[in-house]
Amino acid sequence: MPAVPPVSRQQAVQAIEEQFTLDKPLLESLSARFQELYDYGLANHGAEMQMIPSFVTGVPTGTEKGTYLALDLGGTNLRVCEVALDGNGTFTIKQEKYKVSDQLKTGPVNDLFNYMATSIDNFLTDFGTTSTEDVLHLGFTFSFPVEQSAIDRGHLIHWTKGFNCPDAPGKDVVQLLQDALDRKHIKVKCSALVNDTVGALLAHAYAAKGALISAIFGTGTNGAYLEDIRKIKKLKTAEGSISHMVVNTEWGGFDDERKALPVTIFDNKVDRESIRPRNHIFEKMISGMYLGEVARCVLLHLIDQLVLFQGFSSKLLNTQYGFDTAYMSAIEADKEDATSTSSPTRTVLVATMGIKEEHISAEDIETVRTVCRIVGTRAARLSAVAIAATMVQTGNVQSTGPNDDGVKVGMDGSVIEYYPHFEERMRGALRELIGEEGEKRVKIGLAKDGSGVGAALGALQAAKQLASGHRVEV
Ligand code: ADP
Ligand code: MG
Repeated sequence: MPAVPPVSRQQAVQAIEEQFTLDKPLLESLSARFQELYDYGLANHGAEMQMIPSFVTGVPTGTEKGTYLALDLGGTNLRVCEVALDGNGTFTIKQEKYKVSDQLKTGPVNDLFNYMATSIDNFLTDFGTTSTEDVLHLGFTFSFPVEQSAIDRGHLIHWTKGFNCPDAPGKDVVQLLQDALDRKHIKVKCSALVNDTVGALLAHAYAAKGALISAIFGTGTNGAYLEDIRKIKKLKTAEGSISHMVVNTEWGGFDDERKALPVTIFDNKVDRESIRPRNHIFEKMISGMYLGEVARCVLLHLIDQLVLFQGFSSKLLNTQYGFDTAYMSAIEADKEDATSTSSPTRTVLVATMGIKEEHISAEDIETVRTVCRIVGTRAARLSAVAIAATMVQTGNVQSTGPNDDGVKVGMDGSVIEYYPHFEERMRGALRELIGEEGEKRVKIGLAKDGSGVGAALGALQAAKQLASGHRVEV
């Protein structure tokens, strides 16, 4: 006899639902906390929600023109692009991917940057350029934490994602790239360093003819928005002629002190076994890398309470990160009757997860769908907290009158793009937080090719800042 206190399926699922439900007062307290941490990060260096000034002092309007190079160093690939902006919110892009070997990722930093310069050179040889300028301007999307001090200057804080060139931290990555280009006599100037979230904002503002906020819901989550320069108190260079600057919030670090977030035992388990425990708990409750893992922990708990799959799991379900967020999307999209022997949910459980067919009842199918709904809904509602707080922060909740066309928000990432009902659930929570009027003002669009087009627009901004004599630095 198993020594498990008997509970009914209904009791077990209800207990989960209660822990994951974010009612209106709770949402409001989270939003208030968000506001506090926005102000704190804008005034202080080294905050958990870092509020990093980007030195990008405005957003595109869609009329920008010109041809720029973009370099994107993210995870596994290095991407070189040439982006031709045609001044009508549209662009053409040529691009090539280059593999970054493990040796380059962990060897001397000059080897890595020489390789990047060579890749740019190869790209120009293979594709030529349509630019007529003497020197090509390049925007550099570098998706690692940097302390930026000008649009074209930023020092690496530390590596992430498997990179570890030991002599790089503390160095200016723009200078490293420029030196490598100069050594090879390549006529390219790295004029802007752009975080990928900032790039998404610039790209969406260009395509949608203005945008104020961007949000990423992919592997991780992050947001950027256009802030009033006077509110960025930690920026000592408040120059009279500059009114705004794009801030990279790093909102994945929201409330790492856990003063407001209702962290469940399942979140704690996910966090404790993650690469960086006690870090980015908000992100771990929202983004693609972790949602499946939270759901997996809940499913295992129900199995251990003997209310699911007759108490049987599978090798993959027992494996950390074995239940991908994409499977939750498939399960949530499933409209078939739970008794169907070929429903997408059953297919995921049997064919993908390796649960034995004979252990799965129709009630189990319903329970699995419910668990995905509960975990996915909480993620969407937490995401709404970030968006609502940013709407409040930028003074954009109230309608501006009959011709009000709202606030354009560029979003990117597989979760917002593919997870069923994500936006609808987010909007439900937005209505609770900023009212129907405020929610209607949030105009969501997908920011396409953010890192390439965003970097090109960063380079264009830098050129403009130089030409107008309004270069900002600290
Ligand atoms: P990145 O963040 O690296 O730019 P994506 O935006 O594609 O990449 O996000 C990848 C994350 O999204 C992964 O964690 C993956 O589990 C998750 N994901 C992939 N496909 C889907 C899907 N159909 N529905 C929900 N999440 C997905
Ligand atoms: Mg992405």
